[in-house]
Amino acid sequence: MKNRTPIILLLIVISFQIQLKSQPKQRQTTLIQNVWILDGTGSSAKKGAVRISGNKIIAIGNLTPLLGESVIDGKNRYLTPGFIDSHSHHFGSLKKEPSGIAMTNQGITTIIIGQDGDSYAMDSLIHFFKQYPIAVNVASYTGHSSLREKVMGENNVFRKSTVAEINQMKQLLEEDLNKGSMGLSTGLEYESAFYSSKEEVVALAQLAAKYNGRYISHIRSEDIKLNDAIEEIIDIGKITGMPVKLSHIKIANKDDWGKAPQVINLLNVARAKGVDITADVYPYNFWNSTLRVLFPDRDYTNLKSAELAVTKLFDPNESVLVRFAPQPSYAGKTIAAIAKERNESTAETLMQLIKMAADYKTANPTAGGIEALAGKSMNDSDVSKFIQWEHANICSDGAAGGHPRGYGAFTRVLGKYVREQQLLSLTEAVHKMTGLTAQQLGIKKRGKIAIGYFADLVLLNPATVNDHATIEDGKALSTGIEQVWVNGKTVYTMQKATSELPGSLIKRN
Ligand SMILES: [Zn+2]
Repeated sequence: MKNRTPIILLLIVISFQIQLKSQPKQRQTTLIQNVWILDGTGSSAKKGAVRISGNKIIAIGNLTPLLGESVIDGKNRYLTPGFIDSHSHHFGSLKKEPSGIAMTNQGITTIIIGQDGDSYAMDSLIHFFKQYPIAVNVASYTGHSSLREKVMGENNVFRKSTVAEINQMKQLLEEDLNKGSMGLSTGLEYESAFYSSKEEVVALAQLAAKYNGRYISHIRSEDIKLNDAIEEIIDIGKITGMPVKLSHIKIANKDDWGKAPQVINLLNVARAKGVDITADVYPYNFWNSTLRVLFPDRDYTNLKSAELAVTKLFDPNESVLVRFAPQPSYAGKTIAAIAKERNESTAETLMQLIKMAADYKTANPTAGGIEALAGKSMNDSDVSKFIQWEHANICSDGAAGGHPRGYGAFTRVLGKYVREQQLLSLTEAVHKMTGLTAQQLGIKKRGKIAIGYFADLVLLNPATVNDHATIEDGKALSTGIEQVWVNGKTVYTMQKATSELPGSLIKRN
């Protein structure tokens, strides 16, 4: 007996050394079991488990825990791919709030930025990711207005560009495309791009198409010239042959409310002719933008135009000025209430507010975000029909504050449109937040629960999922989003952000 002790000790030492050597190779796995798996493809949910190793999904199905594996009991909740927000303005908040709770509390794990023609150069995004880890993934388009401003000068964009300027813009776009930009985004309704010619947009779009990029657009008009603006984006799809997406589709002219079926028909006809046109949509009947979009002809001192705006383009009684630097006390009040306070008609007040904001900008040239309006402009039935269109995916168009969509767009769809109104099934809704979006944007290895895909996941309770953010409390957290993973790491659980920052920069592939 006593002779064996050294042998046993030796064996223990050897086995310990083997363990030490093999440990770094042994990847820690996590099993999420006892869940209904909604894989994002639009197929119905299946009971099972999902195993994660590192940042990837490595097994799906009827799995039992491995020795030493960490196990999460999903308690019969639904496990879905992380939501992809195809139109986000959240990026600006992430340096200060890297946890990205505005996004993760509603299940968003990837945001697509560079929207409405406004982008950071890919170089600066690459640099950002080296310096500032964040919780969510980011992909970006290259913004047309940003190109214009760089080439033509910020205060010199209110005109058509020259051939030489277009060539310079193409050069900048090409640099960005080479560094992984998703394609070209335009914000043609905004003044920085409004005066551009269709030829200019087409020239840039063709370059994006050559690189297998895509086109996404806040179109030239969402109200009185909506049909012309839709024709323009369809044409860009036709000429370039690349997929085009109409951003935050809406009908903002009261005279055209109820015409969502006609608009959808226009898009379907284009699709039938081979144009790959899709749209994204957020689930609210009010937008958030500058007061200036209410003047389609950009004639801000024309009383007739102001009267058209207050009667047809938004409801002054239900539209709240969310921000107003020249007179901060106006923030939080409706345009009608401010008009009453000023003893003016709502049309006069609208013109005065724009003038005050312009004067403020002249006095404070570096000031940004001087005013913003939550404009009640759409009707619910149109919003519902756009959400239901089979080629529309869900977006937030949100930021971390302001319009409630920044914290609650996705959970609002799941609570209001799926559970309460049953306008679409949970399966369809999740597809419109994940697999469909990834497919339409050309994002690989995300948007689906599949082996080899990145482990961007959401554990949600369909019985309690809901948004709670309002205009008054834009940062109220959603309920029912129980756990969120980005690249295999838990970034949100128990209504709180964790300290994990696993987000990555996604490049076009
Ligand atoms: Zn927009």
